Amino acid sequence: MKEQILTALRENNDYVSGQTLCDTYGVSRTAVWKAVNSLRNEGYEIDSVQNRGYKLINSPEIYSAGEIEKNLHTDWINRPVIFYPETGSTNIDCKKLLEEGKNAPLLVAAANQNAGKGRRGRGWESPRDTSISFSLGLKPDIEPIKAPMLTLVMAVAVRDAIAEITGLQAQIKWPNDIVISGKKVCGILTEMNLEETYISSVIIGVGINVGQTSFPEEIKDRATSICLERSWQMKKETDKEVSKKTTAAKSETKDKTADSGNITRSELTAACVDCFEKEYETFLQTLDLSGLKERYEQSMAGMNKPVRVLDPKGEFEGIARGITTDGQLLVERDDGKIDKVYAGEVSVRGIYGYID
Ligand code: ATP
Repeated sequence: MKEQILTALRENNDYVSGQTLCDTYGVSRTAVWKAVNSLRNEGYEIDSVQNRGYKLINSPEIYSAGEIEKNLHTDWINRPVIFYPETGSTNIDCKKLLEEGKNAPLLVAAANQNAGKGRRGRGWESPRDTSISFSLGLKPDIEPIKAPMLTLVMAVAVRDAIAEITGLQAQIKWPNDIVISGKKVCGILTEMNLEETYISSVIIGVGINVGQTSFPEEIKDRATSICLERSWQMKKETDKEVSKKTTAAKSETKDKTADSGNITRSELTAACVDCFEKEYETFLQTLDLSGLKERYEQSMAGMNKPVRVLDPKGEFEGIARGITTDGQLLVERDDGKIDKVYAGEVSVRGIYGYID
């Protein structure tokens, strides 16, 4: 009953009379009242007004397999979604579950990772209840050399999902990070597992900073979260509105604020998977990045700007000119020669800082 009442309130987005709920579900007023109270105890904010009924004002932030599944618009991913309240690394879990016989595409998510992995043995901070950690396990029938391109496919998907769900316009820092206002909000780690010369699985891990308001000392200068960026964005909009002093514009800002206050990790995780499915389909048709190269470059931080390539074989500087259809970074040197940079061992920086 509780679930049905919740669905009715969610779908209506306005007051629904107690009588309508009784008639629809064939239950008594007391049963409706009990279900509403039970939802309130779970953290749902439900307003009740005499002669109008009940209205869902706010939902608690529930990050769970059920909520992720509810927000997915695709049947592509196998059910059930696997969810852990706490784990070491979703990439490790996902690999293990596929080895144990779970079917790909498999989605494994966690509310907290205590040993999240970055590239080249580095760590990824995913604090409890404020971050998204998920891994997508695939068994693509592609040559191993093509697997690293899936990092860039996921980067475009995450960028698009963040825009769709939060309205924030993020950029992609080649090859595997998503940045907002020049700071990292998401990292992607793709790991390939081989059986002789064939791919047994590709695991694409995604960590997104959602609710953090502060970061550990070592990363605080170059890390940000959806929550921090949204508040700055709203502040900027409000300041702009105040200076314009137009009532109409002010109320528009208020609406936006109200909308973006309700973003959940389940929604954002599901949107990343939905967006990935579309991009992945295109990738499988061409087996390269020709279908998303243009959009990747449009969102690329540092595009046509000076960059420093931190290559263990020797650092060098140049101008970032985009990517190849295989996902390498194109860097123009002083003499006009274009170098292709492979992601493997390399990090890229702006000349003066992390991005610029
Ligand atoms: P770089 O960002 O230096 O180019 P990278 O892309 O190889 O390197 P990743 O492997 O994606 O980096 O991420 C690991 C690094 O990201 C860590 O070494 C740390 O500096 C930073 N980091 C770790 N956790 C977070 C987080 N939650 N948010 C932002 N940055 C983080």
